[in-house]
Amino acid sequence: MSALLEQLIDALRVLPGVGQKSAQRMAYHVLERGRDGGARLAAALAEAVEKIGHCARCRDFSETPVCATCASASRDAQALCAVETPADRLAIEQATGYRGFYFVLQGRLSPLDGIGPRELGLDLLAARLAEGEVRELIIATNPTVEGEATAHYLAQIARQHGVRPSRPAHGLPLGGELEFVDRGTLSHAFGSRSEIGDS
Ligand SMILES: [Zn+2]
Repeated sequence: MSALLEQLIDALRVLPGVGQKSAQRMAYHVLERGRDGGARLAAALAEAVEKIGHCARCRDFSETPVCATCASASRDAQALCAVETPADRLAIEQATGYRGFYFVLQGRLSPLDGIGPRELGLDLLAARLAEGEVRELIIATNPTVEGEATAHYLAQIARQHGVRPSRPAHGLPLGGELEFVDRGTLSHAFGSRSEIGDS
């Protein structure tokens, strides 16, 4: 096999769910029938990796230092919604009428994987709450064991800053990822959220 072909197959394997076989199939496909598409993909990847960073306010992906949502003057500054991923943020934005701000953790507490408060930017979140404008922190982490543990940790931070922590109602599938929940269910759960007790 050509060294360049081997390099391409190796590179394709960085994508989630792509093993040796699928990587081979993709590489052959691009070379046989999709060279234009392949060139477009390479250019888009290079540009995205170089130019997309994280918003300094919410940690979502952004091409500008502060993302368009955080820069918006028409959103409700009293509500902040913490989510695990940009995909969860998008799901909530599309399924619900929520028009407050977001905070994207880019993960969940997972000590065994070395993901602690620092990796989730919780110092940034605390600083945000300390600004004094936020009244409610809606904690929309996933209803998994780690998501629940993260929610309790965030609720403590909220209370330390005099902010009311709330959680979307149960009824979301246990262990389900928010982004895969259907709109109606997500919208209903989000709308009937309740305050997290101090336990
Ligand atoms: Zn932002």
